[in-house]
Amino acid sequence: MYAPAGVKTSTDYPIPDAMKAWVLGDPGQLSLREKPVPVPKKAEVLVRIDAVAICATDLEIIYHGPPASIRGGLPHNKNFTPGHEYMGTVVALGPGVDEYRIGQRVTVEIHAGCGQCKRCREGMYTACHNYGLNYGEVDKGHRANGFTTDGGFCEYQVNNINTLVAIPDAMSDEEATLVVTAGTAMYGLTELGGLVAGESVVVTGPGPIGLLGVAVAKALGAQPVILTGTRDNRLAIGRELGADHVVNVRSEDAVAAVRRLNGGKGVDYVVECSGAPNAVNEAIRMVNRGGKVCLAAFPHQETPVDIAEIVRNNIYVYGIRGEGKSATHRAEAFMSQKRFDATKIHTHTFPLEDLPTAIRYAKDRIEDAIKVVVKARGVSAVHKVAAE
Ligand SMILES: [Zn+2]
Ligand SMILES: [Zn+2]
Repeated sequence: MYAPAGVKTSTDYPIPDAMKAWVLGDPGQLSLREKPVPVPKKAEVLVRIDAVAICATDLEIIYHGPPASIRGGLPHNKNFTPGHEYMGTVVALGPGVDEYRIGQRVTVEIHAGCGQCKRCREGMYTACHNYGLNYGEVDKGHRANGFTTDGGFCEYQVNNINTLVAIPDAMSDEEATLVVTAGTAMYGLTELGGLVAGESVVVTGPGPIGLLGVAVAKALGAQPVILTGTRDNRLAIGRELGADHVVNVRSEDAVAAVRRLNGGKGVDYVVECSGAPNAVNEAIRMVNRGGKVCLAAFPHQETPVDIAEIVRNNIYVYGIRGEGKSATHRAEAFMSQKRFDATKIHTHTFPLEDLPTAIRYAKDRIEDAIKVVVKARGVSAVHKVAAE
């Protein structure tokens, strides 16, 4: 029976010694293994994982490796469990933890910074200077679950209390897995200045972050919010989430359309979520002079950028990594107030045992899949559940 020294547990939530966990072998190969249930240290809790969403970054990690970094290198064949967009129930408390109680439902942020470097002290823990230093003799306490430490495609995981976000009973497991995605969009808008009420915003790329970026920008009072993309079905969801205008860039020039929709002037902010090779050059032509561009996605190749356009027009360009400055808490506040319905991007649920099928749905966008969720319990083992 699971009873590590100094760790508080409850008979209401019995914990086994071993759990099921998906382990990454060669690129693209996952196998279901047994692993010991991890033990929370000081300032950590054990979370029973109730649901985990698949992210495009998980696919990058599983098939290619980066941005995961396990013991300073590629994540393959290192007994590594990926998965980072999860939620669950607190079932054990590490030494000294009284901020959360056993039985509490939480969703998680990915990055627990070291807490001692310059950037962590500034709240930029996703840009921790001790990123990945959590093994061997260089344990700085940094964790990025599913990137530098074991993640959520399993039954239990340890989380620093700084990465926990309490959620209300009314929020479903599936919706809770989307908080960190909305938090990433929120972080982008925070870095652009945060006060976007009455300001004009373009979101490029209707992936999960882009779609929730529309929702967050609208909830923050931006006007108008314009979404650009290539797929009409995704643009339609963007409209439901609050976009005032949508532009299909296959049928219309994106820059010209944005300028036309905003009275001939460019917009104040662009949140670039497409990663398209020419996206930066288009974004700097979509903003007005002095405008700001946030880059939340990136192309795989180096790409030429018109620097002169940026300088001549005093344009600010920001790169963001993940969900810093507690933006996830602000996103959760919007979601628990039902300011937008993030579940519009949740399309499929599978049991944890069917992770490879779930990954295939996410990767090949089978049945127009957007966010695919796997659950360790409460889902029939033979039938997938398509969201309504
Ligand atoms: Zn993600
Ligand atoms: Zn740090």
